[in-house]
Order: sequence, then structure tokens, then C-alpha cells
Amino acid sequence: MRVLIIHASELATPIGTSARKGAAMRAVTIIKNAGVLIEDGVIRCVGPTADVLAAERALGPSPDTLTISAEGKTLTPGYVDSHTHFVYGGDRADEFVQRLEGVPYMEIMARGGGIASTTRATRNATEEELETVGLDRLKVMLRYGVTTVEGKSGYGLDEATELKQLEVMKRLSAVQPVEIVRTFMGAHATPAEYKGREDEFIDFMIYRVMPKVAEARLAEYVDIFCEKNVFDVAQARRYFEAAAKLGLQTRIHAEEIVNLGGAQLAAEMGSASADHLLQINDDGIRALAASNTIATLLPATAFCLREHYAPARRMIDSGCAVALASDYNPGSCHTQSIPLVISLAALYMAMTCEEILTALTLNGAASLKRADHIGSLEAGKQADLIIHACPTFRHVIYSVAENTVEAVFKNGRRKTQ
Ligand SMILES: [Zn+2]
Repeated sequence: MRVLIIHASELATPIGTSARKGAAMRAVTIIKNAGVLIEDGVIRCVGPTADVLAAERALGPSPDTLTISAEGKTLTPGYVDSHTHFVYGGDRADEFVQRLEGVPYMEIMARGGGIASTTRATRNATEEELETVGLDRLKVMLRYGVTTVEGKSGYGLDEATELKQLEVMKRLSAVQPVEIVRTFMGAHATPAEYKGREDEFIDFMIYRVMPKVAEARLAEYVDIFCEKNVFDVAQARRYFEAAAKLGLQTRIHAEEIVNLGGAQLAAEMGSASADHLLQINDDGIRALAASNTIATLLPATAFCLREHYAPARRMIDSGCAVALASDYNPGSCHTQSIPLVISLAALYMAMTCEEILTALTLNGAASLKRADHIGSLEAGKQADLIIHACPTFRHVIYSVAENTVEAVFKNGRRKTQ
């Protein structure tokens, strides 16, 4: 199957097969009157329309060419949402309203709310129920232009439910187009039955659950919530060492509320990503800048919690590779809106249009070790791309909290109208 997209007002893409760090995040290629030639799901040519038409002629005739004129439209790579918790049971709408009414989080927890309520609901949900809600959420992602998503377990906090969440994501991969990268996050919180015995709980995850995850190839990554009163750096180190022995890669929730030095641990241990980083300090920034660990920033969470934003400008200017993701989850950030993430990054994190594009595409792909085949529009890469209903990528940013996505191609196939 051949697809020819021509006469796009603009094509905007970072270039490369690895993360762009620091000032290199701004090196976005812009082509006017652009086209893309796709064959069998792979990009064959990207360039001015005339070049792409010539490349198509050189390939010889094809019986099933789909030609699309993208006049007045913008082409970008598909978005990579590299941090979500999209498979969960129940919801926390009541809790959200209580928070708006000023009820403190500790009191919400005392009433049985918070992560404990999602854990209860996820444990009680059947695989089929989780698959149904997961599928609905994936459809929303696709409408926002997300072609690859990372999804975490972590609402089971017991063996059966952690495995169930990962199994559901595996099944969802087979029935819809968004690629799902699975992360085991057994160390998301300590469940009531282990309260005060955090080390024992980490041991349970390391010795009982993680080996099963690895053996059944249910996840590529492990993740841990490294935070005051949750899990400390020593526990995270132990968890990561166990993961490395099992051939699993690591990512971390770090410096969200209190700075514990999780960013330095991630850099030291070669983690793929350190995420949140609202409280990162200069030592953490230096450590990430000197490493291959991506700094994944989640502004929609800061927005929903009315916290200040991660210091993206300082991090990029110091040489970090920054990615942006939604952190979609039922508690602290109940939104899948990539347009909101873009707007917050532009308006409150002082990121440039080019940095935002790189962060949502190539750097997100790099944080999932997929930058060799997705994250940019280049010959040889998988044809994951968005047609935006506006004439330049700057208009995508300018359309505050508006979805500009008109069509999405995954593996060279059109998935939305
Ligand atoms: Zn998270």
C-alpha cells in the first residue's frame, strides 16, 4: 500500500535517531509545500512536493496508491505520550470536587479516597472491564494525535492485579492502532496491608512480582514513585538493581513534591527517563544533562494540582533532553489533552515551539528507546504522522488548548478522519 501526501503548507519535524539535548531541541526542520511518500508503512521520502512526486515516479506504478492533498495543512510526526496511567478501574470525580471545595488531601485519604480508592476499584475490575475503559481512552489519545503511548501498572499493588493491568495493555495492543509500551509500576504506593513495612513491600515486588513480569515479557520498563513518605532513594536503587538483573529498563517518578535526589539516581543507573522534576535542583539538572536519561515533564499535573511548573527553560539551557507527556491518571491529572500540555509548556514553561515539538515526538520516542524508528518524519522511519488543520506548526501552538489534529496515520494507515 502506497500513500502520497502532497502540497502540505508546512512539514515540521526534528531529525535524528536519538534524543535532542539542550539547544539541539530547537533544530526543527521546516519544509514548505511539503510531501511524504509512504510505502508499506515506512516513510520513503520527505521533502518538497516536487521531490516527493519524483521519488514516487521512480518507484514505478502501484495499483493502490492513496493520494492526499494537504493544502493549508501542517504535517508533524505522531505524538509520543511517554508517561500515562491509563488502565485503571473506577474514577475519582467525587474526590476532585472535594478538593475544589478545599478538603485537604489527608482527609480525602482518611475517607478512603486517593490512590487507595483506585487500587480498590482496579482490583475489583475484570480484565474485560479494564479493556473496555482502556480502549475508550486509547480512542481519545488517537484523536489527539498520539501514535505511541506508555502505560503503567501500579493500581494493583498486589501480584494478580499488577499482572492484570499489564495483560490488559497487551491485549489492547492487538485490537487498536496506538502502540502501547508497558511499564511495571508495582512500587507506586504502599497498600494498606503493608503500611509501615515499605522495605518488605519492595522485597515482595522485587522477588515475587517483578520476575513474573519479566518472564512473561509483560513490560519493558519498571517505574517507582520516589518521594517523601512513599519510597526513598535506597529503595529505588534496590528496585532498579533487581530490574537490571531481569533485563528490564527503568524510569522514575522523581522530585515531584520533595527533592530526594531521584534524578541523580536515574542518571547514575542509566534510567531511560526521570519524570515530574518540579523540585529538581542544580545538581539534579547537571546529572541529567551529563547522562542519556530523558527529563520527562508533565505540566498538566502541575496545573491540576495548582503547583508551580518544572524548570524546563533552565533544564534545556543546561543541556538536558526534555520530553513532554500527559501523565493521564484518575487522581492528580485526569486529562488526556495533549493540546493542554502544549499550551502549558508554551505559556508557563517558556519552551519554544520547536522545543515543544521535539519534546512531544523525538525525545518522547527516545525515552521509550524507539527513536531509531519513530519520533520524526524521515526516510526509513515508521510512518506515524499527524495532519493538522492549520497552516504552520506555530499555529498548532497558537491554538491554545485546541485540538488541531485532523488525521492521524499509524504505520502508514489512516486512522482518523
Ligand atoms: Zn505518573
